[in-house]
Amino acid sequence: LFETDPPPWELAVEEDVAVASVVFRDAPYGPYDYRIPAEMRDQLHPGMRVHVPLGRRKRPTVGWCIETKIGSQSGKSLSDVAEILDDAPLCDRPLVRLVTWMSHYYQSPAGQVFDALIPSSVRASAGTRERTYLTPAPSTADESVVDALPKKQQRALRLLITAGKPMTASQLMVHAECTAAPINALRKKGLLSEDTRREMATSMPVRWQTSDGEKTEAHELTDDQSLALQRITAALDAAAAKTLLLHGVTGSGKTEVYIRAIEHVVKFGRAAIVLVPEISLTPQTRGRFERRFASVAVLHSQMTPAERHFQWQRIRRGEVQVVVGPRSAVFAPLPRLGLIILDEEHDGSFKQDSQPRYHARKVAYARAQSLKIPLLLGSATPSLESWHATQSGHAELISMPSRVGNRPMPDVQLVDLRIKDERSRGGAISRQLHLAVNETLRENGQVILLLNRRGFATTIQCPSCGHVVACPDCEMPLTHHRDGGKAVCHYCDYTIATPPWCPECRFDGIRYGGLGTQKLEVEVKARFPDARVARMDSDTMRRPGSHQKVLSAFRSGELDLLLGTQMIAKGLDFPNVLLVGVINADAALHFPDFRAGERTFQLVTQVAGRTGRGNRGGRVIVQTFSPEHMAIQAASRHDYLQFANAEIANRRKFNYPPLGSVARIIIRGTVEDVTEATANSLLLRLESARERLGAEVRLLGPAPPPIAKLRGKYRFHLLLQSLDPLQLGATIRMATKTFKIPEKDDVQYVIDIDPMDM
Ligand code: ADP
Ligand code: ZN
Repeated sequence: LFETDPPPWELAVEEDVAVASVVFRDAPYGPYDYRIPAEMRDQLHPGMRVHVPLGRRKRPTVGWCIETKIGSQSGKSLSDVAEILDDAPLCDRPLVRLVTWMSHYYQSPAGQVFDALIPSSVRASAGTRERTYLTPAPSTADESVVDALPKKQQRALRLLITAGKPMTASQLMVHAECTAAPINALRKKGLLSEDTRREMATSMPVRWQTSDGEKTEAHELTDDQSLALQRITAALDAAAAKTLLLHGVTGSGKTEVYIRAIEHVVKFGRAAIVLVPEISLTPQTRGRFERRFASVAVLHSQMTPAERHFQWQRIRRGEVQVVVGPRSAVFAPLPRLGLIILDEEHDGSFKQDSQPRYHARKVAYARAQSLKIPLLLGSATPSLESWHATQSGHAELISMPSRVGNRPMPDVQLVDLRIKDERSRGGAISRQLHLAVNETLRENGQVILLLNRRGFATTIQCPSCGHVVACPDCEMPLTHHRDGGKAVCHYCDYTIATPPWCPECRFDGIRYGGLGTQKLEVEVKARFPDARVARMDSDTMRRPGSHQKVLSAFRSGELDLLLGTQMIAKGLDFPNVLLVGVINADAALHFPDFRAGERTFQLVTQVAGRTGRGNRGGRVIVQTFSPEHMAIQAASRHDYLQFANAEIANRRKFNYPPLGSVARIIIRGTVEDVTEATANSLLLRLESARERLGAEVRLLGPAPPPIAKLRGKYRFHLLLQSLDPLQLGATIRMATKTFKIPEKDDVQYVIDIDPMDM
């Protein structure tokens, strides 16, 4: 378990009092100090939960102890800690420090950060029960006492004595072949000592997911891989905090490098965390780790609370060498952490979009720094943040510019959709793509088609009056889903039956415009009737295991064509994929977000990387309305450097990240003008804080964000921008410190530091 430092009051003089600093879920300030009653002194450690009185609340409030210290006589006015809620700390000191840092940096109450750090299944002791263990009482050492007992009692007691270990009453009943009566009699006579413990209800076997049939042995490393590994092990041996960016093209064999680096870590009795986008927790990725290490804990969203708790306990006891999981695995309580890896470090899923709105890369960096261990970031399309860090000397760049086995990068062909001949009438698939799919299928090759929009039609519009069917809560157009004839809001899941005629003018010829994966599937099946087709998007992948099922069918050749959203762009390694088609590369390009170009480049590059992985080569067809756009041009040439340099120059003009920092404050409320007024008064606060601090911060807004109404609430946002993240943070902190919104206004605000979507 975690080592605990000696309590500070061992050094205390008599009139000193022991004090605990406690933080809460919903009290933004603090920590608050409480007196620790003498009888609790030895039991309370940082990282434990306590019950304490807070403000005028009648019932005790749950708080987290983050520090124990000595206070002076004046501490007598402090309230007492009422109760300690945990037997052992739920996190060690470095993790407590991480909470404090996150709370400060992300301006989120520390109690909320603890909630993100410690899974709810752990806080609720999921899958545990209390069991009472029996041992012989000291008085039974006297033989004559035992001899005097009735036969059945004697037999049970002697069994327990010779067993030499504690047993539950039911275990003892089985061993002594008796009923509960003699045991209860022994209890009543005080001949048994009882000890109650909370433990896992069953010794839970780790559920080994069946692998998808892929065999991986340790490969002989390529030259690129061994050079990369050398530089990583050098960093590991230096036992210093260091950030390394492994920029390896798709198919360069990054996973093998991770595995070798972890082997090096494990050799010295330490452990590693591998963060992956949730979606790439395919059997393939997890299989690669499970086959190479004796003890791997895979964390994913489909675990039961009991399983999650069980894994967490294994990790904390130091029984695990490698933890593989999504963003929250960055908090895995490994006692001897030696390395943190972020695979596909550019992926959007590493940012949490609810409080605390942390980015796993930033948190991993902070954790690695405090433990003085390396952080390894890997990607074929590094985020500009990480790229910039290598240019400014904050991170070391390791490149793997070629694919394993010297396989060439696939040819990328752009199809200009503005040219009439290229577009197929009424369909989504151009003439060239159609021909290429046919050719590939004829050669028994497999095809991946990417369309980053789920549903059937993305707008439902009346051609007569122009009315667009929209969500009453979000004002976003509803998407038509063919299965069940539903119209669904993709922001809040509001669902109605798709109206057969216009709800405004009653015209009965309503049109389904725009394109989603369902409509594409219909078109694909009509065009290629002999192909075996599967669709992969969050609608078809709802059930646990469905992901795995489709992928292993695809691997084994039972499917010819896989179409889907960005889910299919990530991490898949299938040698027989000879063609990748991108249906509409500009779908994300014209979003009002400074990262639109970066996202497009990443998506096109990543999906293109799914082909050419075998020895039959591969090609990519990208359909686009903006073939001259820099992001699409660079992606078509596999030229990350060109993209990164051009994009950094773009961002420099406006000091956008990674050159400067951005924060966003979202204000939301039920009444539009009250919400806007609140946003304006917050802006005034920010302006005066900026003035008092002399901070160089640009303030923008309030303006309605791209999603101006969400789940029935009006939204406004304020943007802050600065070259200095500290000045940015300080301005917000000062402005919001005393900013109270009257309850009747029903307006809330959230602070998003380093927002990932604008
Ligand atoms: P990346 O993550 O960089 O796209 P992968 O790790 O998926 O690449 O590796 C691509 C393929 O190459 C995988 O099938 C992997 O098993 C294989 N591979 C990796 N390293 C080697 C090697 N040194 N020799 C032969 N095959 C390798
Ligand atoms: Zn909605």
